[in-house]
Amino acid sequence: KPIGARVELIDLPLRDDLRGRTPYGAPQLDVPVRLNTNENPYPPTPALVEDVVREVAAIAGELHRYPDRDAVALREDLAAYLASSTGVSLTSANLWAANGSNEVLQQILQAFGGPGRSALGFEPSYSMHPIIAAGTRTEWAPTPRRADFSLDVERAAEIIAERAPDVVFVTSPNNPTGQSLPIDDLRVLIEASPGMVVVDEAYAEFSSRPSAVVLLEDYPAKLIVSRTMSKAFAFAGGRLGYLAAAPAVVDALQLVRLPYHLSALTQAAARASLRHAAETLGSVARLAAERDRVVDSLAGLGFSVVPSDANFVLFGWFEDARATWRSYLERGVLIRDVGIAGHLRVTVGTPEENDAFLAASKEVGR
Ligand code: PMP
Repeated sequence: KPIGARVELIDLPLRDDLRGRTPYGAPQLDVPVRLNTNENPYPPTPALVEDVVREVAAIAGELHRYPDRDAVALREDLAAYLASSTGVSLTSANLWAANGSNEVLQQILQAFGGPGRSALGFEPSYSMHPIIAAGTRTEWAPTPRRADFSLDVERAAEIIAERAPDVVFVTSPNNPTGQSLPIDDLRVLIEASPGMVVVDEAYAEFSSRPSAVVLLEDYPAKLIVSRTMSKAFAFAGGRLGYLAAAPAVVDALQLVRLPYHLSALTQAAARASLRHAAETLGSVARLAAERDRVVDSLAGLGFSVVPSDANFVLFGWFEDARATWRSYLERGVLIRDVGIAGHLRVTVGTPEENDAFLAASKEVGR
């Protein structure tokens, strides 16, 4: 037993509002087919790996110095990528980056949420939104989606107007259900919001709908678009999330970020990875085609499948989703129980991984 193991969590003077809560907990299990955390299944190309190694070698001799606190070169590269993929002219002043979009979202709630303030989200959605709200003592206002997981935008706008949250989260495409919102719907939600609207676009590259970035010019005092390199960019282990917003929003986040939060290693690796964006993002079309194959095959097997324009699929219906999740695991296939009754979520993998998943799907009980 480790030293101190006789003390339990309940013995500690933990904040009352954190007592009894559960941490984020996607299981990290070593099984042959891992389709549970929406990563890109394709590893970095040899050329990208070489570039990362070269960049990291170049800065290794300067690790006694702090990194560029404002990560300006990286933000310039991110601005160039986002501008070219959305057609909106952005500069480094519009971009902010942190260790994964989780840290970006936390900084947003540190600056715009906090004690006495509230954040609203449309559930089911990304489980970290309420967890980050709890950590920053932002009151969480969960608002339900329709039974088919789509968003009733008119009703949502009414609820936003009634509750007047300081921050609204809109996940598009939504994790774990897969659908994205049209720009006109986002407009309705932003118009109704008295505070900040965060459009979490972690899976935007997989969607054919335009990014909310096109709305920044119209709503500079309200809109924040959050993105990540963890999904389409195949950089989950590198930890790089970012946002696009008005420069004043970036100024606000500077008040709460920790100095030197982005290591020199992270900045260098992310920049190298961005230089290879074209080859990495080549996998997006392949994954979208595989997603459609997985959806069709599941439907063919008699499952009900929620339409998705992301790199994952929510499907059911299971009498006991937890037991079915275990049946998949026994067949070497790790998928995700996201806590939605009767449903499980599978990430789109390589064709071989998807075949293994579909073969298991024929066998598991319902
Ligand atoms: N937003 C959404 C909707 C996500 O699904 C995820 C990852 N599961 C994130 C944000 C956070 O990802 P990261 O911190 O790796 O950027």
